[in-house]
Amino acid sequence: MNVPVTRTADAGTRPWDDLLAADELAYRTSEPARPARTAPLPSSLQPAFRAALRRRGISALYTHQAETYAAARRGANVIVTTGTASGKTLAFNLPVLDALTADRRARALYLYPTKALAQDQARALAALAVPAVRAAIYDGDTPREQRRQIRGWASLVLTNPDMLHVGVLPRHDLWAEFLHNLRFVVVDEAHVYRGVFGSHVANVLRRLRRLARLYGAQPRFLLASATIANAGQLARELTGEEAAVVDEDGAPRCARTIAFWNPPLLDPELGLRASPLGEASRLLAELARRGVRTICFAKSRRSAELIHRFACGRLEPATAARLAPYRAGYTPQQRREIERRLMAGELLGVTCTDALELGIDVGELDCAISVGFPGTVASLRQQWGRAGRREHGLAVLVASDDALDQYFMREPSALLERRVEAAILDHANPRVLDGHVAAAAYEAPLGDEDASTLGPEALERAPHVPELRRTGRGWVWAGRQAPAARVPLRSASADPFLVVDASSGDVLGLAERERAYSTVHEGAVYLHLGRQYLVRELDEEARRALVEPFEGDWYTQAKKDTQTSIEETLRVERRLGLELAFGRVSVSEQVVGYQKKAVADGATLDTVALDLPPTSFSTEALWFVPRPHQLEGLETMPLLVSSLHAAEHALIALLPLWAICDRWDIGGLSTNLHPDTSAPTVFVYDGHAGGVGIAERGFEQFEGWVADTARLLAGCPCERGCPSCVQSPKCGNLNELLDKAGALTLLRRMLAS
Ligand SMILES: [Zn+2]
Ligand SMILES: [Zn+2]
Repeated sequence: MNVPVTRTADAGTRPWDDLLAADELAYRTSEPARPARTAPLPSSLQPAFRAALRRRGISALYTHQAETYAAARRGANVIVTTGTASGKTLAFNLPVLDALTADRRARALYLYPTKALAQDQARALAALAVPAVRAAIYDGDTPREQRRQIRGWASLVLTNPDMLHVGVLPRHDLWAEFLHNLRFVVVDEAHVYRGVFGSHVANVLRRLRRLARLYGAQPRFLLASATIANAGQLARELTGEEAAVVDEDGAPRCARTIAFWNPPLLDPELGLRASPLGEASRLLAELARRGVRTICFAKSRRSAELIHRFACGRLEPATAARLAPYRAGYTPQQRREIERRLMAGELLGVTCTDALELGIDVGELDCAISVGFPGTVASLRQQWGRAGRREHGLAVLVASDDALDQYFMREPSALLERRVEAAILDHANPRVLDGHVAAAAYEAPLGDEDASTLGPEALERAPHVPELRRTGRGWVWAGRQAPAARVPLRSASADPFLVVDASSGDVLGLAERERAYSTVHEGAVYLHLGRQYLVRELDEEARRALVEPFEGDWYTQAKKDTQTSIEETLRVERRLGLELAFGRVSVSEQVVGYQKKAVADGATLDTVALDLPPTSFSTEALWFVPRPHQLEGLETMPLLVSSLHAAEHALIALLPLWAICDRWDIGGLSTNLHPDTSAPTVFVYDGHAGGVGIAERGFEQFEGWVADTARLLAGCPCERGCPSCVQSPKCGNLNELLDKAGALTLLRRMLAS
């Protein structure tokens, strides 16, 4: 059932009008064009820099660029969060390049989350050709013999947080000149630094501030982020300092039609829908036929390839030849070639995984199709931002059967009118912090005066960090090797499993110890950057999972027994007629087997038993105990546990609306009788050891979150629960014991309390 289609004024006819006149269109609206707001080039700019800008045809600024420059000139830290392609790069380049032009000794450090993005930025800086600026990349690929030269010569160093963490800070003596003259630190793509990774990077930046201060410098931080709800807070949590927020976008924008596209419901009882890949390929083919330049984002490489293949199959060969997939692993030259062909109009359609959204630089497209909600409103907006650069554009969301996608199809305002989610991190999570306290003590003895840069929590943790010794100079490192190398930034546990591609020897990623058994057990299908791998072996001794590329049409789902125990209750409040608690819990899990499931329809192909040891970790959780009157009529078993379990799943599916996280970052448990509460209880916990603030955000936003969840259940057209409401792809009980009606009854009673 689709909501009524609203047709707002859409002046003129568009090449896609007939295409959108279909039953699959769940919602349509449009965003108006916005004229540019500009400001003159500031008179205080260095003449040489101003001349370089003019040579590039830049004779005026957008207002947000001028504002960023002015705030930085005042000595403020700044976070700029304006739309995709609004010229954020020039915004932070202005004060930095101006300062480097004015003072030959001044230095700047640019941080990018990936090497590829640092390379893109280095190219952009080279193109700007500011005479006094000497930019160089310093990362794991930089040849040893060049490193020394770069440290001495470059005035602007581009690197990534990992290199800063293990390569630069522990050897700060080699960087003494650079740190002494460090004026600016640029943190681009700052919204990427959230969750565990963000919590680590926040500590790395604090260590950088501390060392800079030891060398007599106090660099300013300039951050750029996709639009998010809490930009000022993100800047403060990442750097430990206040920052001015620049969020009024002065860049012009073309009008844009937005379409929500829901694949037809094939089986209302089971909630089964037609494939979003098929629908996306149909749209892509039809748009190509109309000469509309389109980029299509899919969640995995396999999906992207299927969409490309299906679309080609629908087209005459001459048009099909003008579609191309865009893959990870292309060299920069191949990427530039595809981008050039798109801009020249030789290519009409490109299909890629959403992992590539950061690295693709295409200017002038007409349409962007997102196949499946990419997880955050910020990424969706970033994908849609590619549509309509020259003239009226089209942005499409094709829904998958995931609960969040289907919720948006019925409640478009939940997506379009909501402020973009908050990026959450917690630098003081002891699981993250301790490694950095050790690293900081290795870098220089740690004393009370460091509380102002590292944060008071770091000093509080120092006595608890093994291998630190108290001396007259402060806490010093008494271990052997530099501790930073043992602290991976993308994991909350100190000794994660390496995931290694046995066919190439490449390390694909890390699996936290607590999660390894459920994600990289033998026989698991592992997804990395949109590619599938099959786990051949989990070597516990070597802490290594050996995987190989995999082309099969199934995925795997682990079956596990989970238990929680409450370690400490930190907050209890009366909310929605019941006792809502937040605190620390210990979660123990034992993976007991897994199921192979068909990609096409989710059918179970096989069940395999596993013999793996239990693991446990401590994290943050919220939990609630429904009151007896809220459970009236649901008290019998198994209805009681099924109702709680279904409510837990639906709540977890919608928590990403309130906190930037993935449903895979959240765990849950529901029980008819919990030993610590002696009552029926639902737990929702942070899936990362120590917790990064996700459960706390759920605690704070409980009422709105529960209301969203009740709407999700009430609106789903299925009869008894389906993947679009109460079923979860990560359920350790393989989606057994779920009662949608019971869950809805409970949530409604809570909301009525
Ligand atoms: Zn349903
Ligand atoms: Zn479950």
